[in-house]
Amino acid sequence: MKTYQGIAQNIGNVIIGRITKQGRPFFKRKNYIILCNEDYRGLTGYSGAIFTSASAPKTFRKLPIVCYNNNQIIKDLKNDDIVSLNPNGNINVLWEVESDENAFLLTEQCNCRCVMCPQPPRKDPEGLFELNLRILDLINPKKTNRLCITGGEPTILGDKFISFLKICKSRCPESNITVLTNGTQFSNFEFSKQVASIGLKNLLICVALYADTDTLHDDITRLKGSFYDTVKGLHNLAKFHQNIEIRFVINKLNYERLHSFAIFVYRNFPFVFHVAFMGLEITGYAEKNFNEIWIDPIDYKDNLRSAVLELSRRDIHTSIYNIPLCLIPKDIWSFSRKSISPWKNNYLPICQDCDVREMCCGIFTTSAFQSANIRPIKS
Ligand code: SF4
Ligand code: SF4
Repeated sequence: MKTYQGIAQNIGNVIIGRITKQGRPFFKRKNYIILCNEDYRGLTGYSGAIFTSASAPKTFRKLPIVCYNNNQIIKDLKNDDIVSLNPNGNINVLWEVESDENAFLLTEQCNCRCVMCPQPPRKDPEGLFELNLRILDLINPKKTNRLCITGGEPTILGDKFISFLKICKSRCPESNITVLTNGTQFSNFEFSKQVASIGLKNLLICVALYADTDTLHDDITRLKGSFYDTVKGLHNLAKFHQNIEIRFVINKLNYERLHSFAIFVYRNFPFVFHVAFMGLEITGYAEKNFNEIWIDPIDYKDNLRSAVLELSRRDIHTSIYNIPLCLIPKDIWSFSRKSISPWKNNYLPICQDCDVREMCCGIFTTSAFQSANIRPIKS
């Protein structure tokens, strides 16, 4: 999340609003935060203001204001971005209108404790769900091509999750909506039916499945019975003709199963829309359990190749996420995607000399460890 540290004025509680730079007609200012320099006119009626100056005129005794004395923010923020103004002077960018990577973190709680989870589950901060509702209410549907619902595990919210999807449908009926889930709640037939009956036409449900055996999957999720729940969930979703992606995060515990996993997927879930094989992000539990889970992608490159080609031969759309091109065989580069969210994506200094940098996903800046085998590729 982009953040700017400014100086707050008149802010008692967090103010959330949509950015406008040009200003709005008087009766349409509610919900907007105006971004202005000293060359302002009337500011009555706005939720708040951001001044690109060291201080704001004292005439605005009630308007919540953050002064951020740097004109760069005018370039950075776009009309219809959603920001919060905080009592400590922070301006947090909650929604970037020009990005396809916006996500609703619906909850930080989860029923699993995956050994390589980059964002360990924890209790939700107060008001998290209401914050998401507020953002959903403020986004401009005409400028929202894609949105993601994630967690923690968003489906454990049950009815709240269902109601959030319904609001997504009414606010953004044309948007592509991705739900990231461990799939266990979909083992409940009625829950799957409720989700399907909302009728979101562009919904993709991305389900994490880490092995083709119950013992290994459950060892990774550290939730006994999760394998059978997830498998049942996948079948329930298929019964309701939902678009499904399967996500397999490769680690030291499961890399040897890559090829058998591909066969398992084809035999048991031939209906899936997409399969993604994903590299590790070494933070959270992944960092804590590093020795247990880390394997360099170069050491599983042949396993990955055979899994990807197995599924591709079977006509199942397959991708590789989060693994640099220099760590995988060239004949599977075409399956690799630039998958890392821009806010945590970069390249190493040695990547300067690489001829395939434009095609490569690069690295997680959030990872505490990078492969020692990253080397520039020369064509
Ligand atoms: S990786 Fe996903 S399913 Fe596993 S503990 Fe983390 S949030 Fe839960
Ligand atoms: S050297 Fe850098 S840019 Fe080139 S393939 Fe490796 S990670 Fe990607």
